[in-house]
Amino acid sequence: MTDAAPTSLPTIQPAKARAPEPERRVKPPVDPASLVHRDLLGGEFWRKIPAYKDVDEATFLDYRWQMKRSVTKVDKLLAGLADLASEAFVADLREGFRRAPMAVRVSPYMIALIDWSKPYADPIRRQFIPTGSELLPDHPKLDLDSLHEQADAPVPGLTHRYPDKALFLALDTCPVYCRFCTRSYAVGLDTEEVEKVSLKPTNDRWEAAFEYIASRPELEDIVISGGDSYNLRADHIKTIGERLLAMPNIRRMRFATKGPAVMPQKILTDTAWVDALTSIHEQGRKLHKEVCIHTHFNHPNEITQISQRAMNLLFERGITVRNQSVLQRGVNDTPEAMGQLVKRLAHVNVHPYYVYVHDLVRGVENLRTTVQTATAIEKEIRGMTAGFNTPVFVVDAPGGGGKRDAHSYEWYDRVTGVSVYRSPNVDADAFYCYFDPVDLLPAEGQARWADPSQHEAIVAEAIDNAKNRPA
Ligand SMILES: *Cc1c(COP(=O)(O)O)cnc(C)c1O
Ligand code: SF4
Repeated sequence: MTDAAPTSLPTIQPAKARAPEPERRVKPPVDPASLVHRDLLGGEFWRKIPAYKDVDEATFLDYRWQMKRSVTKVDKLLAGLADLASEAFVADLREGFRRAPMAVRVSPYMIALIDWSKPYADPIRRQFIPTGSELLPDHPKLDLDSLHEQADAPVPGLTHRYPDKALFLALDTCPVYCRFCTRSYAVGLDTEEVEKVSLKPTNDRWEAAFEYIASRPELEDIVISGGDSYNLRADHIKTIGERLLAMPNIRRMRFATKGPAVMPQKILTDTAWVDALTSIHEQGRKLHKEVCIHTHFNHPNEITQISQRAMNLLFERGITVRNQSVLQRGVNDTPEAMGQLVKRLAHVNVHPYYVYVHDLVRGVENLRTTVQTATAIEKEIRGMTAGFNTPVFVVDAPGGGGKRDAHSYEWYDRVTGVSVYRSPNVDADAFYCYFDPVDLLPAEGQARWADPSQHEAIVAEAIDNAKNRPA
């Protein structure tokens, strides 16, 4: 009772009309199932994979072992799985490896997290290991560098699109190769399907990038990516970090790496690398400049007790970790999967920052979904937990428009799947279109895209509608 008089003062209250008691809603006890984000996979889960049945914990936590035993060839993968994969699935896998435009590279840790009894539904298998049967035709509007990162690069491997920040592609290799990679124009080995742009970690190229960054007073914030910062040597981390910290214009930097999600072992056992990062972070702190990590978890199954140990270590060193996910069909495209991911990330002190609507990338049309799906999931997620642990759902607008809040389209045609965005900080006059995957459109939309003579009109109509919509 909030209006009770203190019991130590036995005064006589004059009788007066009392306002009716407000009805208080007591929350019912929670369903324990809503707390499963705290139950992280532990134990020696890898031993169920025939190739790793004799591997002890010390070996499995050794990042050099994880790198050396990462799998790039289908025969190696199949040998390691032995009888875990059905005959039909094996044939499908071989076809997938043969036709995929992106090289395959997957760590033992990832292989061990896949449920091989249900490989088609498994969210980790879908992201890293291609099958032939899932391939869909690419969208007609797709081109290889759909984000125009190369067009916006004043020097090779440095994209300066936004006013105060730039993206430095320091190298072109990664600890694993993701099928959905936006940078598949550069990252990974050449495949039967695609010859890649080269972005080697060479001194000359880096020097040109540093010179450019120092020459632009408006630049304050550098994303160091690739490829992946995990594959930078410890002395590379120091060189890049110290060079950037020494520039008076630079206030912030982030090392972008998928590593914590796919090989947390490195943070636990590559002391030189973690110490180099810590040193840059400490130097930055003394200069009042932020140095942090941006990583890339996509599904709650990727967060285990090993990930938690790695994130705890970075947290103890004071290094902020933020997460950027990619929304993928059959991986994390439900409020349940995304909600679990967000809660589990927060549980290990990683801030969910962005969820990207999947870029237009070759050979992964089956992983893309619609802008409608993104905005619907966002509605379910917002309010679940702290606002600073709630990701913003963004579309990286093809053609170099940059990241836009997925909800902020000027126009969205559900029949043709075209959404139109403006991006005043990139180009005040331009309209940028994103394209939903054709196979998820209503029949009328699929029919229009099936006719190449309609393509120009579809885009022109959408932009016209965006221009003429009431303010
Ligand atoms: C994503 C990106 C950045 C960083 O953008 P934030 O919204 O600050 O995370 C910078 N440059 C380019 C080219 C990018 O694609
Ligand atoms: S780690 Fe990043 S850059 Fe490398 S393949 Fe995956 S998405 Fe692409």
